[in-house]
Amino acid sequence: MTFQPNSPAARDVAYVLHPYTNFVAHEEKGPLIIDRGEGVYVYDDAGKKYIEGMAGLWSTSLGFHNDRLKQAAMKQFDILPYYHTFAHRSHLPGIDLAEKLISVAPVPMSKVFFNNSGSEANDTAIKIVWYYNNALGRHHKKKIIGRVNGYHGITLASASLTGRSMNHRGFDAPIANFIHAEEPNHYNNALEGESEEDYATRLAENLEKMIVEEGPDTVAAFWAEPVMGAGGVIVPPKTYFDKVQKVLQKYDILFVADEVICGFGRTGNYWGSQTFDMKPDILVCAKALSSSYLPISATLINEKVYEPVKNASAELGAFGHGYTYSGHPVCAAVALETLKIYDEENIIEKARDMAPVFQKQLRSFSDHPLVGEARGVGLMGAIQVMQDKASKKPFEASAGVGPMIANLATEEGVMLRAVGDSLAFCPPLIISESEIEEMFACFRRGLDRAL
Ligand code: PLP
Repeated sequence: MTFQPNSPAARDVAYVLHPYTNFVAHEEKGPLIIDRGEGVYVYDDAGKKYIEGMAGLWSTSLGFHNDRLKQAAMKQFDILPYYHTFAHRSHLPGIDLAEKLISVAPVPMSKVFFNNSGSEANDTAIKIVWYYNNALGRHHKKKIIGRVNGYHGITLASASLTGRSMNHRGFDAPIANFIHAEEPNHYNNALEGESEEDYATRLAENLEKMIVEEGPDTVAAFWAEPVMGAGGVIVPPKTYFDKVQKVLQKYDILFVADEVICGFGRTGNYWGSQTFDMKPDILVCAKALSSSYLPISATLINEKVYEPVKNASAELGAFGHGYTYSGHPVCAAVALETLKIYDEENIIEKARDMAPVFQKQLRSFSDHPLVGEARGVGLMGAIQVMQDKASKKPFEASAGVGPMIANLATEEGVMLRAVGDSLAFCPPLIISESEIEEMFACFRRGLDRAL
């Protein structure tokens, strides 16, 4: 395609290196430039309106124009636009936000470390796990178990923890000490006739075998999203985490919950850990922590982890880890205001009330000829398309059917994300019943065009 000289599209292609993008295709197609947002809608630079079915990147929980968040940022810019939190320095927004996070945590937590992104929050957690075991003199207990198709970010360590080949291929990842257990994906991976319960038992047994084969003295932590988001919205069988946690306890392996997508109401409770009965030692959150208006993430650790880490920091002189922007005061003020809005405007309760409407609409696609499975929980879901739904025969990956349907749906007015042949939905938590209907109506028009 040729672009108007000096147009935003031409300049984008000339200068911007986009994340998660096929650069050859981008030079051909150019960008879709988003100009502005309002409620659950965004508008492109030609004025076309889209309902944001993915809340941006699973993240803009309060939609695209929240005045309270704007005011909170402006107020903090006036008071103190930046200060750091290294070496005993602190500021009120950071203190208030840490206190608030500890008060709402799903299990007793002790301390909060601030970062800028989900990836960095996981990196911090990985480094704390290693620091903790070094502090206890367990220098060989370093392996971390992620899961196939789990997503934890793209820094070198978090990408290694991520279980998706796209994040490894070409990047010399995973680095040492990261291994991957099976994903709890009943629809795609259970044996013929295997119940969810039996499947969960088998996965926990396989995890235990893996730990024994690796050597329990070498395994430090197990990492899991409550619902795997970027892996295709994989909702685990009910008893899966209970069985997994029993195995972890047996071998003194830390349990880390990655709540970057599931945190703050997405699955119908404040935390995904509550929906799935998870009792993590470390919890990682980001995205909806600030409705993604500004970058901030948090790593929460319990007292069991904190104690040895504290002692080691004294022995080593300091805990040698931290970002220039750890707990940035403007980001912290916006995050704090976000959490206040969740409380004062009953956002999480309202999202829980809206979940049955969302899930009913989502599941109404189950009898569509292209749809293998419609699955989800709370206000997140996915529709997986199949070449032959009766025999569960998938489309050839190279055919790119999922991305093609996502593009058709976007043309019909809904922003979606394709994860392979699963089309993911994760709208802002403020979405109304009529907007849910509109979102799925746009999607149905796109899907029908793929028939
Ligand atoms: N963890 C999970 C569960 C995620 O879904 C993501 C991003 O989608 C990340 C971590 C990485 O977050 P970020 O993109 O902010 O680095």
